Amino acid sequence: MMRIGYGEDIHRLESGGPLRLFGIDIPANVHTLAHSDGDCAYHAIADAILGALSLRDIGYYFPDNEEETAGMDSEIILRKVLEMMEEEGYMINNIDVLVTLERPRLSPYIDECINHLAEVLGIRASRVAIKAMTNEGLGAIGEGLAIRVVANVLLEEVFDE
Ligand code: MG
Repeated sequence: MMRIGYGEDIHRLESGGPLRLFGIDIPANVHTLAHSDGDCAYHAIADAILGALSLRDIGYYFPDNEEETAGMDSEIILRKVLEMMEEEGYMINNIDVLVTLERPRLSPYIDECINHLAEVLGIRASRVAIKAMTNEGLGAIGEGLAIRVVANVLLEEVFDE
């Protein structure tokens, strides 16, 4: 049995870096405006996994209006979602993530992001894809006012021998 999931997140950007993405502080002159640490890559990925399992969304488990989640490291959110996935008897087959951001260019940091994400997810880097694109100057993202991340994940049922 396999299950597919989709997750998406968008955050406003404000001046002053660094930019937290995939658990990494990327050198930039912007950061995300958020209640947690604003790692919208981790948020999209966590939502994709929850979606594949039909388990609502991260806002349901980690409300963005509670003191407990203020400034929270989003890796804690992702690891909690991975625990839920394991409890449901699934593992990640592969994941494909797309970041849309006008600047900075993410290409120098993609390998580091892939390796770190693979480690957190407990899968090989060859099963992790991270792509980045600009919005060609169009709309709020194109004006550098926001960042969007979308994630697709394929889960595979774990069979105990
Ligand atoms: Mg978010």
